[in-house]
Amino acid sequence: MSYDNNNIFAKILREEIPCSKIYEDEFVLSFYDINPQKKIHALVIPKGKYTDLDDFSSNASNEEIIGLIKGINIVAKKLGISSDIGSGYRALANISDHGGQEVPHLHFHLFGGEIVGKMVS
Ligand code: AMP
Repeated sequence: MSYDNNNIFAKILREEIPCSKIYEDEFVLSFYDINPQKKIHALVIPKGKYTDLDDFSSNASNEEIIGLIKGINIVAKKLGISSDIGSGYRALANISDHGGQEVPHLHFHLFGGEIVGKMVS
């Protein structure tokens, strides 16, 4: 699938629509999900144009890949849910059709602030 420049997260990155920002650096932007599924529901997205995790793993630079993984940890610490200072969380990426991905820009969901529950329903 080619990258759709009009997807909602691309618009958030271009600041065409607002988000409730948690963290930003050279590699990632993080903001709260508009429709939270748990007490804490954050999203972490790479700044580059990648449709999903497979596109990212195949085409992103090592710097971008490290930046995203580190970004998830930075956000989890900021939210107080990382395993060192908090009680943990679930990081989840939906990938394409069978994965139930709705927004075609790679994003990790961070669910926490309570026991997250069953892994797959
Ligand atoms: P996915 O099904 O993995 O593609 O998840 C897309 C997520 O994006 C959903 O949890 C939506 O609630 C969330 N979402 C959609 N639009 C926005 C927005 N404008 N700001 C924040 N989160 C959004």
